[in-house]
Amino acid sequence: MSSELALLQWYLEAGVDEAIADTPWNRKAPAAQVASVEQVVPAARAAFVPNNIATRPEPAQRHAPPPPPPMHAPAAPSLPGLDALEKELAAIDTLEALRARLDTYDGCALKTTAMNTVFGAGPADADLMIIGEAPGEEEDRRGMPFVGPSGQLLNKMLAAIGVERDQVYVTNTLYWRPPGNRTPTPQEIMACAPFRERQISIIAPKVLLLVGGAAAKTVLKRTEGIMRLRGKWAEVQPAENAAPIPAMATLHPTYLLRSPAQKREAWHDLLAVSERLLAE
Ligand code: URA
Repeated sequence: MSSELALLQWYLEAGVDEAIADTPWNRKAPAAQVASVEQVVPAARAAFVPNNIATRPEPAQRHAPPPPPPMHAPAAPSLPGLDALEKELAAIDTLEALRARLDTYDGCALKTTAMNTVFGAGPADADLMIIGEAPGEEEDRRGMPFVGPSGQLLNKMLAAIGVERDQVYVTNTLYWRPPGNRTPTPQEIMACAPFRERQISIIAPKVLLLVGGAAAKTVLKRTEGIMRLRGKWAEVQPAENAAPIPAMATLHPTYLLRSPAQKREAWHDLLAVSERLLAE
């Protein structure tokens, strides 16, 4: 293989499968010293970010994130026994012990049809915690969140803001795959909520990223769709006396795979997350 072909092959394997300009660009020229995210991760950015969009928010957008919108909590959901479960879980302080308790939990019927429990993955002291919707086929088979096609895109999205996947804690609103990837029911989401809330408390990340409508609505306790919820800072208080955690909702990678033009919106949300992580 010629060295040019080998280089192209290498780019492809790194996720650079799209040209972002018609003419070559000299990164070393002074004019190129613009955006830190671009300087750090040009290849990753090229792999995820659509053409012709701003790479950094305008200065006015960068400072002082807007105050969180008021919370419009829907009527408090209830399933028998959840209050007692919440109290019980409040005494659990490690992810290992929480996972062990989830293994004995039979409050969500999806457990009986799933191959594996997908609890979460990543460091317990992660600055960024990501919550998705539910495990898919690949995740169910491997017992790990976001390892299928949408996980590959999620990794590229993270790389585009200079974040490695293994620096991030990733989980879902559900710990078991709904059969045929059907939409989770409110009861299934509710049955898993005490565990997820405790997971957030234990990790206490600097920033929460909620990908997709199910995660955004559930964690933010809102009823609007993802198009209204995304791109705005909100706050999540995982327990009564816990410090509030800034949370950003964005579009789900599965949706972005079907609608790549929407990557523009997701990119703006990710830049806001990146700024917040660097500022904290
Ligand atoms: N989609 C999700 O929301 N979560 C996963 O873990 C995989 C796909």
